[in-house]
Amino acid sequence: MTGQYNLVLIGIDTLRADHLSCYGYHRNTSPNIDKLAQESMLFKNCFSQSQRTAPAFMSIMSSLYPTFHGVMANISQKGRAWQIQRKAKTLAEIMKDAGYATAAFTEDAMLFPEIGFSKGFDIYSTTPHPLSRPENHPLVKWILSKQSDRFFVFFHTYAPHSPYLPPEPYIDMYDKNYNGAIPRSFEELSKLNTTFYNLMKKLKSDEKEVERLKALYDSSINYVDSFIGWLITFLKAKKLMEKTVVVFTSDHGEEFMEHGGLYHKKFYDEILRVPLMIRLPKSEKSGVTEQIVRSIDIAPTVLDFLQIKIPDMFQGESLLEACEKNLGLIAPAEYAYSSALRTSHYKYIFHAAGKSKNAPETELYNVALDPEEKENMSDVSPQLVERLHFELNEELTKKNLPRPPHTIFYIAGKKTVQRIKNFIN
Ligand SMILES: [Zn+2]
Repeated sequence: MTGQYNLVLIGIDTLRADHLSCYGYHRNTSPNIDKLAQESMLFKNCFSQSQRTAPAFMSIMSSLYPTFHGVMANISQKGRAWQIQRKAKTLAEIMKDAGYATAAFTEDAMLFPEIGFSKGFDIYSTTPHPLSRPENHPLVKWILSKQSDRFFVFFHTYAPHSPYLPPEPYIDMYDKNYNGAIPRSFEELSKLNTTFYNLMKKLKSDEKEVERLKALYDSSINYVDSFIGWLITFLKAKKLMEKTVVVFTSDHGEEFMEHGGLYHKKFYDEILRVPLMIRLPKSEKSGVTEQIVRSIDIAPTVLDFLQIKIPDMFQGESLLEACEKNLGLIAPAEYAYSSALRTSHYKYIFHAAGKSKNAPETELYNVALDPEEKENMSDVSPQLVERLHFELNEELTKKNLPRPPHTIFYIAGKKTVQRIKNFIN
């Protein structure tokens, strides 16, 4: 017996919240996403549970911290992958059990079905499709074929991920006269004899080139925004919008030298703060909240609204009341063996193996006074470090879940390894 409503979960890879206009960005990157935000519950401070794709998305899907879902890291360049733990139940499995038709449209790399991402999906597509012709996108075709059923669809795109190459007319929209070393097409990129990642490393001390990267990233967001605008108009035209919960989020952000680097490997806010908006049918609840929420809260929130039982092992909380009351949440993040905790006042980071590779190192920022996380206070506030470390562990181990044995395996095949190499670097 299925409920009344469908679910569309939109996960835009590498989308930092503060580069969307509705999160205060100075460029008009997101007119269509902003419109969706106005009809939604808009979470100004949502934090991802990891800075990397696979662990972050698995936390969204399973409502578990990485330690507990087991996917502690992205697949390595040698094809070494972490797999979801046996007992974890994904949102797709729960929706399928509740009678929904389920499908996922992702774009290859990182969200490998073998890791556990395809669990519960009737269809799991990893073939990339251009967003510039939305009417031909299989996501749209699938929705059309299911409009009389109840459905759950997950849509994921890497469009804002490096090498930031949106098509015309987006590519130069924020710097029409650019004339530097960064390629303007995949063809130019393939002639470079280096990877985009290595090119970024080489250019990172050149401010003008970093500005170009930012401009490309922002125009990639405009590219995604046009697709989202088309999709929402389509759902409205098909009268599906009033029968559908729409969730818009990301897995992590992106750094542009705020902490001396590019890409997304650190635990700072430019990387961990992600957009989150949840639009209920008929905009039943809308509003804005500044309180801390987490990616793991998405699944329990939609199940709560759909009146489907929330599994006991979920570590997230329903956010249905979040625009009216303070839920007092704190947000851990993990990658491999390092972790962090974001509270409304502090960011605490624990590097299991510090720079010396043999001793743990910690960082502590008073984000209420130092939002850019510039002044590490961990040496001067050892008691606070101790308290936050305790809170982090308490939060991670809440519900007394046993830590599962982590399953690491190799996804075989040269093709897989090659596509990982092409993608990460
Ligand atoms: Zn990602």
